[in-house]
Amino acid sequence: MDFSTSIQNWYRLNKRDLPWRTVNDPYKIWLSEVILQQTRIEQGTPYYLKFIQAFPTVKQLANASEDKVLNLWQGLGYYSRARNLHHAAKTISSQYKGQFPKSFEEIRALKGIGDYTASAVASIAFNLPHAVVDGNVYRVLSRVYKISEAIDSGAGKKIFAEVAAEILDKKNPGNHNQALMEIGSLVCTPQNPKCNACPINQLCLSGADQTFASYPVKKGKTKITTRHFHYLFVTDGKKTVLKKRSEKDIWIGLYDFRLLESSLPEKDILKEIKSLKPIDVKKDGFFKHVLSHQKIEANFWHVRVKKLVANKGEVLVNIKDLDDYPMPRLLIRYLESSPTHTKD
Ligand code: SF4
Repeated sequence: MDFSTSIQNWYRLNKRDLPWRTVNDPYKIWLSEVILQQTRIEQGTPYYLKFIQAFPTVKQLANASEDKVLNLWQGLGYYSRARNLHHAAKTISSQYKGQFPKSFEEIRALKGIGDYTASAVASIAFNLPHAVVDGNVYRVLSRVYKISEAIDSGAGKKIFAEVAAEILDKKNPGNHNQALMEIGSLVCTPQNPKCNACPINQLCLSGADQTFASYPVKKGKTKITTRHFHYLFVTDGKKTVLKKRSEKDIWIGLYDFRLLESSLPEKDILKEIKSLKPIDVKKDGFFKHVLSHQKIEANFWHVRVKKLVANKGEVLVNIKDLDDYPMPRLLIRYLESSPTHTKD
């Protein structure tokens, strides 16, 4: 049996029952693909259901406010995905009258959609012959064919795209692509792949001599930088101030507290806070937060003032209404760490 027939037969019997697999609405397939980038299925599924409930059509997503979209996205991370999703929905609504574009090139041209997502939507929703290459596909193909070109190099990406296109079942591209990704996810796992239960073990070169652990090959690790944040939860007892992040940095569009970014010793930070003449100030928590390229070490300071005045660009918010504002997960962790914050 050839590669594609083997994986599709296996997929028919073993695929997981997931809500976006029972529809062929391109909007819903696109939404699921965007949510599942860098997110596990167990974590992403409730978000998919929440979005579909709030915005059953792409037009409804386009007409929502950015705050509402980011609020629903809260906790998933990589917020640029949500902003791009919203932007692309607006394009579909205005340029395509709410009808999802049907060609690979038009889908690929939407904001935030790269080769992977365009291929997934084009093949699954429109049966167009485009092969997907994601982390699962890299792993399976590198092991089956013993490809030692690095997956994070230009040359490697080209080779994997060519191999994926060559083995694609052009009559059933959506099914083929989903079968390949499902095998990577359930059978050819990063650790301890289940070679005995694998439908392509007869074709797999690294399974045959048990060298699968050497694949896929990667060039190098991404450098992680550490940043030191001091968040000031400034309050008069009822209200606090938030600022919408707009600079070219992480978390654009989300709200956070007043922030001092500094690696100075804590006594110097405290001196700076005291210069604001608060009634009281206390350190109220320390959290580490890891993003793809950054590690954030954040101190939270609870600063009580007599009269709270919002600075330029800030909004004055009742503490009990903080839930209405989309915030980075780091701040949610702080607020949830002690319910007394919200009863200040
Ligand atoms: S035989 Fe093993 S290494 Fe090869 S594709 Fe299957 S699970 Fe992966």
